Amino acid sequence: MRKYHITTYGCQMNVSDSERIASMLEAMNFTASKTEAEADVLIYNTCSVRQKSENRILGSREKWQVMKQNNPNMVIGVTGCMVAHKGYDFQRKLPEVDITFDIQELPQLPGKLAKTMGVDLVMPEYSEYLHILPKTKNKFQISVPIMTGCNNFCSFCIVPFTRGREKSRTVADIITEIKKFVKKGAKEVMLLGQNVNSYRGMKDDGKQATFAYLLHKVEEISGVERILYTSPHPKDMTDDVIEAHATLKNLCPTVHLPVQSGSSAVLRRMNRFYTKESFLDLVQKFYDRVPGITISTDIIVGFCGETEQDFQDTLDLYRKAQFDLVYIGMYSPRPHSLAYKMKDDIPRKEKERRFHILHALQEEIAEEKNKIYINKKIHVLIDKIKNGVASGRSEHGKYVEIPLLRSSETSFEGRVFKGLELGEIVTVKVNEALTWVLRGEKVS
Ligand code: SF4
Repeated sequence: MRKYHITTYGCQMNVSDSERIASMLEAMNFTASKTEAEADVLIYNTCSVRQKSENRILGSREKWQVMKQNNPNMVIGVTGCMVAHKGYDFQRKLPEVDITFDIQELPQLPGKLAKTMGVDLVMPEYSEYLHILPKTKNKFQISVPIMTGCNNFCSFCIVPFTRGREKSRTVADIITEIKKFVKKGAKEVMLLGQNVNSYRGMKDDGKQATFAYLLHKVEEISGVERILYTSPHPKDMTDDVIEAHATLKNLCPTVHLPVQSGSSAVLRRMNRFYTKESFLDLVQKFYDRVPGITISTDIIVGFCGETEQDFQDTLDLYRKAQFDLVYIGMYSPRPHSLAYKMKDDIPRKEKERRFHILHALQEEIAEEKNKIYINKKIHVLIDKIKNGVASGRSEHGKYVEIPLLRSSETSFEGRVFKGLELGEIVTVKVNEALTWVLRGEKVS
């Protein structure tokens, strides 16, 4: 049997796209290989948001040459941002790559593979890439793209150039896909998009739906026990979405609000269309209406012209917003983005200094915030049982461990252990709260 291997870089949309590529290849009778070297078809789903991911592809040539010497029939395919970027000269820069395809062209992959491999292959027929049901990492947690592209043109970002303008799937399309997964055992649904709260898909009556409407429709699906979404844009956050958090039983009390900077001057240069003050007002609205909600964010340090005062404003905003988690990026200019023309004037060492200060602040706040869970009961979806520890996420997005073994007992990994089963949502009493983990025991 022919084998495939997919390597994915970048955001959750890319992870979701890779799940569709895997599903397509399995419909062609390929099976997943554990290592790249064993595969007949290697697919790289690339990201251009950060230079680091592109460098990993550019640095793969030697490895590919060795693998192709050992398996001359190996086919290397590249998709994702580096292809969508257009104008990237693969033939000259990466001649080992046999196939490139825009993710929207996924239905054409079987034809391209058959031609390159010179063999007959099973040809699944799909007209649209979003109609391919993804092969998910487990059956109880699924990600469903509700839209592709972005209209926002934040000055540091190239997504509108790689994924194009916003295109929302219809409500019926999304609901049908979720129902198919629920039949197979899905409990947790992550709604995905570059800017989910500007979702404007078509309803059954031909009118446009809002994101809040979609959340209500997903809530109605019997079998869905948890609803999550990422990422919304703070400028598009509406009261009806906040209200949905307050009223929908299955919508998890956690939200990712990417602020990017706490300086209104930097936010203006980033084209974000909100200020430090309006962002903090939004955070307060969430805390007031949904007590206990956890909020995570993205912050870029060292953006063009970011002064020490701008950075202090970011730290001040961070303290006031009391985020639970931040994904920190050090600014790197991306060709084609609007900021590429600005001066990248913060030295690398200074970006690193700001990164470490912000990182230390998030650890301090996260540890403090986690303490509120001690002796409280939370609900955990078990997604791993390994070395005698069951683990998973709580409804607030906290990573939780449930130790199941005493030190004298042998370790175990598998699907069911000591009354706990993968995919089960259990009530846990928290006994210990560390910076990044809560530990507790199952209670009834
Ligand atoms: S909202 Fe801004 S950061 Fe997010 S994908 Fe669109 S342009 Fe990029």
